[in-house]
Amino acid sequence: MVRRKKKTEPDRFTPEIDLQIVDGVLGDSENMLATLTRAGFSKEEIHRRSRSLGLSNRFIAQCRAGDIVVSVRRCLNCDDKFLSMGVHLRLCVRCRRSA
Ligand SMILES: [Zn+2]
Repeated sequence: MVRRKKKTEPDRFTPEIDLQIVDGVLGDSENMLATLTRAGFSKEEIHRRSRSLGLSNRFIAQCRAGDIVVSVRRCLNCDDKFLSMGVHLRLCVRCRRSA
């Protein structure tokens, strides 16, 4: 049975998917879009997600300059995977908020 979700779908975009989006935006976006649409994401969803990840032109320029290093890490506090936008970030968003 398929349940329809009307709410937002936070679980579909895993840290790995997020990283693919970031990599794609920084590099081969055509290839990234092709891969993720094959995985079942719509281009709309991907664009919306990249916006909510904060992939602004400024952010992209900083990444290209090597000022920001994006990677998937495990949170030191709760061990959840998260997308880290910088070498100094070792806690997930949730733990950072409650810290
Ligand atoms: Zn955490």
